Amino acid sequence: MVKSAVLGYPRIGVGRAMKKVIENYWNGKATAEELQEVAKNVRKERWQTIQKAGVDIIPSGDFTLYDHLLDHSFNFGVIPERYVSQGMSLRTPTSPWAVVVRSRRRVSTSLPRRWASCEWLILFLSLDPTLADEISFDSNYHIVKVDHEPKTAFKLNNNQWLSEYEEAKALGIETRPVLFGPITYLSLVRKSRDSPAEFEPLELLDSLIPIYKEVLESLKKAGAQEVQIDEPILVLDKAEAYGDLFKKVYEALSPSIEFLKDLPIHALHLDLDREPKQLDEVLAALKPTKAGIELGVVSGRNIWKNDLKASKALAEKAVAELGADRVVVSTSSSLLHTPISLKVETKLTEQQKSWLSFAEEKCEEVAALAAALNGQESSLFEQNTKDIAARREFERTSDSAVRDRVAGITEEQLARKAPFPERRAAQKKHLNLPKFPTTTIGSFPQTKEIRLARSKFGKGEISQEEYEKAMEAEIRHACEFQEKVGLDLFVHGEPERNDMVQYFGEQLNGFIFTQLGWVQSYGSRYVRPPIVVSDVSRPSPMTVRWSAYAQSQTSKPMKGMLTGPVTILNWSFPRADVSKEIQSKQLALALRDEVVDLANAGIKAIQVDEPAIREGLPLRKADWDNYLRWAVDSFRLSTSGVENDIQVHSHFCYSDFGDIFPSIQRLDADVISIEASKADLKLLDVFKSYGYSNEIGPGVYDIHSPRVPGEQEIKDRIASMVKVLPADLLVVNPDCGLKTRGWKETEESLANLVAAARWARETY
Ligand code: GLN
Ligand code: ZN
Repeated sequence: MVKSAVLGYPRIGVGRAMKKVIENYWNGKATAEELQEVAKNVRKERWQTIQKAGVDIIPSGDFTLYDHLLDHSFNFGVIPERYVSQGMSLRTPTSPWAVVVRSRRRVSTSLPRRWASCEWLILFLSLDPTLADEISFDSNYHIVKVDHEPKTAFKLNNNQWLSEYEEAKALGIETRPVLFGPITYLSLVRKSRDSPAEFEPLELLDSLIPIYKEVLESLKKAGAQEVQIDEPILVLDKAEAYGDLFKKVYEALSPSIEFLKDLPIHALHLDLDREPKQLDEVLAALKPTKAGIELGVVSGRNIWKNDLKASKALAEKAVAELGADRVVVSTSSSLLHTPISLKVETKLTEQQKSWLSFAEEKCEEVAALAAALNGQESSLFEQNTKDIAARREFERTSDSAVRDRVAGITEEQLARKAPFPERRAAQKKHLNLPKFPTTTIGSFPQTKEIRLARSKFGKGEISQEEYEKAMEAEIRHACEFQEKVGLDLFVHGEPERNDMVQYFGEQLNGFIFTQLGWVQSYGSRYVRPPIVVSDVSRPSPMTVRWSAYAQSQTSKPMKGMLTGPVTILNWSFPRADVSKEIQSKQLALALRDEVVDLANAGIKAIQVDEPAIREGLPLRKADWDNYLRWAVDSFRLSTSGVENDIQVHSHFCYSDFGDIFPSIQRLDADVISIEASKADLKLLDVFKSYGYSNEIGPGVYDIHSPRVPGEQEIKDRIASMVKVLPADLLVVNPDCGLKTRGWKETEESLANLVAAARWARETY
């Protein structure tokens, strides 16, 4: 019999139950017991949903209140030395939640930005913000990394895997515990800053193996039939060097569980969604062994209905080679990256719903697939065949005008009319900005009033006209504010934007939106990505109205504000039927028209934000060049439609460019602003060493905390920047948008920024 498996499931609970209770707990409105109660119910609901869908192998141990990598560290009793020296200790926990300790101390400036606005600290977190999180494995999920150092000692502080396994068992549900393998765990955690340069956390492997043995033994004793040991690090280039380590680890672990006795691995799971070509090779290698294979055919990353007929054909190959008993069909990864259920969506049309599949539906898909392979094709399987055919037809007849336009993109469209020095001269005349020009990154405080107006407008409680009046009043206020503070290059403040991607998606053809399609980024942060369903085009201008209004309120130059094509795509669910390159170029063409329209409306500087360009990098270095080629081309395409005197800006939040620097250079933005206020100025050395010659605004203060930077502090900052980069290339700005800040601290901070820039003009 072919079995079905699911590798992991969203942890957020139906109706965002976890977010609500966690935030209530933080605010003191829910007790620890209430928090645990909700968590327990969510776990139960997850197991029961998967079971009801007919899945054979159900995961446990993959739940978390915050982040699963953080939980592993907690479970292994890891506590960085510097916290111990501050008197912190591992509490005797009933749950990983004990890692979160209440701290009413003033939030330090170096606190990771994600937590800067809450009164809580994650006990184990390193306070190095640029490293505080990292996008994990080709998704938009952020893992939380705990510091490890040479003397880090492991002890089984909390056996989450055993307790969840038993919790499910008590409900009558047999599960497969899931944990990161030791190599992946040690490859993902962070090395503490105080540890010696040559230290690598992987050196701790020998002392970690006994902990894994203990966990596995306990699971075996409790009756677990299988465990799922995730070693996703295997897909990265650096794992090539780890061959011997894998051998060592799995030979050491195999006696711990009976079924591993003869074989280092019981079954191998393959992500066939990403890499279908690998199947033949792996089947040939497995055939002479007794090992089974788990075929990850149902994508855990996208939200598209699986082509069950095609998946079945793939699986039949494996069945023919290995026999049905050695084959399991499963999701390609944990379903944690997908929304929970399509069933709760009431605004999508039947046609749209027929294209999609969220976590719950994906469980049904793997179950239906296994059943079909076992000779029982269900009605779901039949319906799936029809839906897939209808979707293919829809794709075929999508917008041919847009496709033709992409096919007709010329080299000329990918470059500005003149090289930077010539553009710069034209822009100097056109904009007339002083040396060390001051500007901001785009958004101003999104106040309660703004959110209220938006929500009232959404509910139809105020008219379009009233809403627009309210936004215009905000823009007027932003202009007056900037006059008063004395900034040079103005922004309109983005009051009309709910989100930097959703705002554009809503105005473009080709996108749809869910009501409840939340996906966890980490902790209680969830996003609701738009879905690209067809060819993308711009029916009418999107931002021109607001920017033009803002410009009409001041004689200072107004900077237009757009989100770039790559960022819109990377923060959406992309289509699966055409390449990301095509989708990105369609977006770029739509934005190109917007940029031209802004210029025609009298906007002299236009910023196209691309904070997500780096996180879109493919897993394998071999694929980087291709990605960077089309990503950079997309940016160039969107910004090159204007005359030389239009100043194109771009902004990046995470500025660890090191290995992709030539691509940043190739963007050829006239000005880029980067987040350099917290990371030391080493970042700027990279710009220097590459001879970067366009203008650059390294953030002079951190906007992620309410702290007001002093004037002297900003002067010092500028002084150290001038040591690295030519003074006449420097722009003075904060390190990101100000939407999460209040007006009071914004005013104080920007007044100091302006004073420091004036000082710089006289000094350099
Ligand atoms: N222009 C955006 C803002 O200021 C940029 C946001 C971002 O970089 N994430 O809000
Ligand atoms: Zn930013």
